[in-house]
Amino acid sequence: MPKIDNGPPDYRLNLPPIVKENYGKWEYHESPRPGVLKHVGPAGALYSVRAGSPRLVSVDFIRDVCALADKYCDGYLRFTSRNNIEFLLSDEANVEPLIEECEAQGLPVGGTGASISNVVHTQGWVHCHTPATDASGITKAVMDDLFEYFKRDDLPNKLRIAMACCLNMCGAAHVSDIALVGVHRTVPRIDHEAVRKSTEIPSLVACCPTAAIRPDPKNKSVTVVEERCMYCGNCYTMSPGMHIMDAKNDGVAILIGGKVSNARTAPAFSRMVIPFLPNNPPRWPEVTEAVRGIVDLWIANARKGERLGEWIERIGWERFFDLSGIPFTDKHIDDYIFSRETFRTGAAFKY
Ligand code: SF4
Ligand code: SF4
Repeated sequence: MPKIDNGPPDYRLNLPPIVKENYGKWEYHESPRPGVLKHVGPAGALYSVRAGSPRLVSVDFIRDVCALADKYCDGYLRFTSRNNIEFLLSDEANVEPLIEECEAQGLPVGGTGASISNVVHTQGWVHCHTPATDASGITKAVMDDLFEYFKRDDLPNKLRIAMACCLNMCGAAHVSDIALVGVHRTVPRIDHEAVRKSTEIPSLVACCPTAAIRPDPKNKSVTVVEERCMYCGNCYTMSPGMHIMDAKNDGVAILIGGKVSNARTAPAFSRMVIPFLPNNPPRWPEVTEAVRGIVDLWIANARKGERLGEWIERIGWERFFDLSGIPFTDKHIDDYIFSRETFRTGAAFKY
């Protein structure tokens, strides 16, 4: 009988000896250069060399990375929560040779401190059935454009970018400095036969956040009240008969100003600033240009230590729209159930 319900391997089995010896006793850390961290404890120092990864990788890629870890790190490495690779070294003399070999193999070293680290992203057209855009393609295009900021650590603060290919927002798009989110713009086309054959209709009716879906018992299907639909695509998740994809009308919205840490200010949700940009594969030039515009504006104007959302809250959103040149439209005004909280209830604003 194979063993089941084992859980993951005990993480302690894979810790480098220097981490085991210093476990729970670390004294401080510093960053000798972008992409390198030095953690110091009573048993000595651990050097972490952080390299970007595309997340979606081949077994050959993993083997190449393991070969580097064998050569320079006694076989030890880890992956970070943003899918970067961290090589874990106890010998400082190996740090520079490892960096040189990483760069030679196309593994950029960076992503520490006040930088733009890896983009947390999703499946896109590679593997999911509900996306409104691609994930790996758009992430590559955006990071190519922002590459210099991965390797620098002198920005006002860290800037987190996340990408989700539909409004399910798998990942971190709802709480990131900049989020790219795939959006639809057309009402689902109903395939009644598919709905009849494969759908639990009460669940389909209940999944719609705006109650746009009504049961149609005579046809054993549903109808959609078109003017109530805001194209979230949730009904397609429930039923293969609710076709929402539309190559010409699907695209990308940009949300900004979110964060998860409690440093200085409370965690915040990202807010929509650009309702729609077209899907323009393979390089999504409209999206990369918009993201760079926002990043450069923040770098030029924020105070040291200010996250993107903190800078905007200080200057005011109307000033941000002014400075960025992004048009403010009725699409920006929240009209969902709890929208009242987002309206201005004071007289303080800038002309
Ligand atoms: S965000 Fe949506 S489309 Fe993308 S992987 Fe998640 S569920 Fe699929
Ligand atoms: S796309 Fe969303 S809003 Fe429109 S009918 Fe489907 S679930 Fe309702």
